[in-house]
Amino acid sequence: MNSYIKKVDFFKGNDPEKIVEEYGSPLYVYNEDILRAHMRAVESVITKYPYTANYSIKANSNLEILKIALEEGLNCDAMSVGELKLLLMAGFPKERIFFVPNNVDESEFKFAYGQGIMTSLDSLSQLESFGKACPKARCAIRVNPGVGAGHHKKVVTAGKNTKFAISMDDIDEALEIAKKYNISIVGINQHIGSLFMTPEPYLDAVTNLLKVAERFENLEFIDFGGGYGIPYHKLDDEAEYDMASFKKRLEPILDDFVNRYGKAPLFKSEPGRYCVAESGVILGRVHATKDNAGVKYAGTDIGMNVLVRPSMYDSWHDIEIIRNGKVVSRSKLEEVTVTGNICESGDIIASKRMLPEIRKGDLACVLDAGAYGYSMASSYNCRPRPAEVMITSGGRVKLIRRREIFEDLVSMFI
Ligand SMILES: *Cc1c(COP(=O)(O)O)cnc(C)c1O
Repeated sequence: MNSYIKKVDFFKGNDPEKIVEEYGSPLYVYNEDILRAHMRAVESVITKYPYTANYSIKANSNLEILKIALEEGLNCDAMSVGELKLLLMAGFPKERIFFVPNNVDESEFKFAYGQGIMTSLDSLSQLESFGKACPKARCAIRVNPGVGAGHHKKVVTAGKNTKFAISMDDIDEALEIAKKYNISIVGINQHIGSLFMTPEPYLDAVTNLLKVAERFENLEFIDFGGGYGIPYHKLDDEAEYDMASFKKRLEPILDDFVNRYGKAPLFKSEPGRYCVAESGVILGRVHATKDNAGVKYAGTDIGMNVLVRPSMYDSWHDIEIIRNGKVVSRSKLEEVTVTGNICESGDIIASKRMLPEIRKGDLACVLDAGAYGYSMASSYNCRPRPAEVMITSGGRVKLIRRREIFEDLVSMFI
């Protein structure tokens, strides 16, 4: 693919140069149509049985995006009291929020319990604390199905080597703790990891979790977790995650379970990245180019404080170059390392990448930055975090978060 931006008309006719002129650089830009289309796709993963998709808001918790999720009928997952409060602020009713924290103190359990929000416990010891703090409550437990998956060892969240969840061998003990505190385990959930492009590990984990489910008498819900990938190598024509064939292979596994269990509880999944990643890009200015020992560098203002994924996970993000508002053709490429403006040698967005010739003054457009982009951004080096704008379905550019300013950074000093 020569250009994703052009193919999907990402800016809907708006000139990216003008957008940056108005809102500053670097800048997160989202496309509302792409966002809504992905949110709709996850809602039809299971159609034969009762099902809800819980958007995992840690991927992107911009209030405007949460309101769109609310409108699209998604439920949401929260990992902290902050995320719970944000969801309540966005207008989510308590029944549409699921709290899946790990290693928290009892004040967080009590907050969720007080709001009537369902909580999942991630260890026997957290189940015990929850039981003490919220006697007679209903809750869920997070089970490790024994298989993990993901694009990097830092995002595999099940299997043998993980801090997450309760082992399948400890279910009896979990049931005993529940009995001791008179709490009822009404749901089980799992999350095996993030960003897989083939369905096998997920389907194996579903099969394993459904075996665990049979040990509970009256489950109200079973939650299979998130992790569906998106094609980060789209300029090299990487294919989308095949939702349709995934759905086809998932259904007989569910049929089989429902036959044995005698009824269908509510099934859930927890996609984060899939909902938002492709709907967001970052625009940033190229401020310098240089040659160091034969390597060409393009220095931008998209530092690891703006997008940490490349330096944290060695993640690949496609980059397009924009000059005078137009995407530069990929017909002639050269090797270049694209970096940010942070004082760290790991502050690299793309290492030795084949890109069109980059000139000072160009805009770099980093694709697929909608998930784990702004939500992991920081003000490292005292660089205020960028603004976020949305290209609405109507084609308008709408500011959805103002740029941080110096006064924000110093506002907590006494
Ligand atoms: C992060 C997370 C998700 C979402 O993962 P994605 O890879 O973004 O789909 C879902 N469930 C839990 C428990 C998580 O921690």
